[in-house]
Amino acid sequence: MIEIRTNCENCNKQLPPNSEAAMICAFECTFCEECVESILQNVCPNCGGGFEKRPILRKEYLPKYPPPEKVIFKPVDQDEFNKILRRFKNIHPSQR
Ligand SMILES: [Zn+2]
Ligand SMILES: [Zn+2]
Repeated sequence: MIEIRTNCENCNKQLPPNSEAAMICAFECTFCEECVESILQNVCPNCGGGFEKRPILRKEYLPKYPPPEKVIFKPVDQDEFNKILRRFKNIHPSQR
């Protein structure tokens, strides 16, 4: 199963397992949909891939599959990210 990270890596907004605002890349880098749309423009700053909405894990599974304790909060460095953005933003994720 996927890792359910409970905050946005960029703005630290809380994204609990039942959040409908959580977006993930193929490596499970996790951001809120506002950051994905406005700042990231559907380009993951870590891997260059696109994002999809994270599926919601039913709450009865949480005791057995709790979210990871380690919190990743790594706001985007805009200068560094601009290089990645320029390279990928005009290419559909399936063609990157
Ligand atoms: Zn965010
Ligand atoms: Zn990624």
